[in-house]
Amino acid sequence: MAQYDYDLFTIGAGSGGVRASRISASFGAKVAVAEERDLGGTCVNVGCIPKKLLVYASHYGEDFDDMPGFGWTVERHFDWAKLIANKNKEISRLNGIYRKILADAGVTLMEGHAEVVDPHTVAVDGKRITAKYILVAVGSWPSVPKFPGSEHAITSNEAFYLPSLPERVIVVGGGYIGVEFAGIFHGLGARTTQLYRGDLFLRGFDDDIRKSLADEMRKRGVDLRFNLDISKIEKHGDGLTATLTDGSVLDAEQILYATGRGSKTPDLGLEKAGVKLKANGAVVVDEYSKSTIDSVYAIGDCTDRMMLTPVAIAEGMALANTLFNDKPTKPSYLNVPTAVFSTPNCGTVGLTEAEARGRGYEIDIYRSTFKPLRHTLSGRDERTMMKLVVDQASDKVLGCHMVGPDAGEIVQGLAIALNCGATKAQFDMTIGIHPSAAEEFVTMRSKAAS
Ligand code: NDP
Repeated sequence: MAQYDYDLFTIGAGSGGVRASRISASFGAKVAVAEERDLGGTCVNVGCIPKKLLVYASHYGEDFDDMPGFGWTVERHFDWAKLIANKNKEISRLNGIYRKILADAGVTLMEGHAEVVDPHTVAVDGKRITAKYILVAVGSWPSVPKFPGSEHAITSNEAFYLPSLPERVIVVGGGYIGVEFAGIFHGLGARTTQLYRGDLFLRGFDDDIRKSLADEMRKRGVDLRFNLDISKIEKHGDGLTATLTDGSVLDAEQILYATGRGSKTPDLGLEKAGVKLKANGAVVVDEYSKSTIDSVYAIGDCTDRMMLTPVAIAEGMALANTLFNDKPTKPSYLNVPTAVFSTPNCGTVGLTEAEARGRGYEIDIYRSTFKPLRHTLSGRDERTMMKLVVDQASDKVLGCHMVGPDAGEIVQGLAIALNCGATKAQFDMTIGIHPSAAEEFVTMRSKAAS
């Protein structure tokens, strides 16, 4: 008789949990996964995928604006309900694919709420199951800070299911979700104000990205206001009035709070079972994703390392190798590229200029800003920004940063170059693809700063 019901019991069928479960099963482990909501987690249901679909939708707005210069004219009409219905249909299809992936891998799916009872026991809707290892992959959840009227604000979760496109929207928060949704709402035609409590949004990104994106969003007509927050929201009928910290008031139909996501660890029984959590609820883990209890592991957003889907997947992959493939693997966080699907996109990999200087590197900065070819005919006043941070001593490229169309697509390839330790000389000897925006990354010859 086996000592446990399962080798691995995963709580949460999001990107990380599903990857860890199915790869562990492929290594011969007996695996079950519990999920209390739709399969696929945040990324599939209320994150990356529906967000990107809405971003695509929002871009048509400016494509229509740009087309007369290319000889086109059309009558425009936008139907929010149709977009959301089509998006929902696609999400359901993806939910089905996740179900099939688990079934094909031989992973048992239990739909219900799971709790950790002790280091080797979970309860799913009260039914006890034992496992050699328990994996916590429960993700994160957005919340609205408490202040008078905060109950009238929505989060990104609700934004994906609004019954209609609001005429006026206030977006609060200057992180990924804030700038992405400001671009979505503005592009779809809502009058959009974005508030950020600090001097300049996207804290942690390279300053040239932060400034370029702010310029481009303002040129498009997004009402960006920094050093401001909401102190009170009042509701009258279908409308909301926000009183800002400078005493001014703003009316809107929707107020979206994008002020961070917390780990979804409450009601899991983790602390009772001896698993240590950080003050923000994130599971404390070591480099192999092991919690403070030997048989309990955690990956993805609920560990608050890097809240990015591909990172959760890499952590899940590494864990399966560690536990069931005799290959202890630490996930690598080196040169993780990331894109903000703002309008226009930001793409970044490696060190920012400030980080490089802070780490004591003597650096050269190469920076280029230019009007994309497409806008010579569209007439749009848009500039793309590209930047390289180069270590003077080794000539290695330490960071690549971009604001402009397709930045997310372009920076992916550069991340490979950085992981290979590419030097500026190797960037320079690479032939460009002409005419493209990407070629600028291999043709920057003049230093902008040292
Ligand atoms: P972020 O942590 O990225 O940004 C939160 C923003 O809200 C910051 O500007 C922060 O300000 C501000 N903020 C925090 N608390 C308050 C408060 N009490 N009042 C006012 N402002 C506040 O969180 P997001 O919600 O945007 O996204 C969560 C995570 O999800 C991201 O960090 C990212 O890892 C992931 N994500 C990734 C995406 C992608 O890869 N494209 C897309 C969407 C999300 P300050 O900077 O001053 O702290």
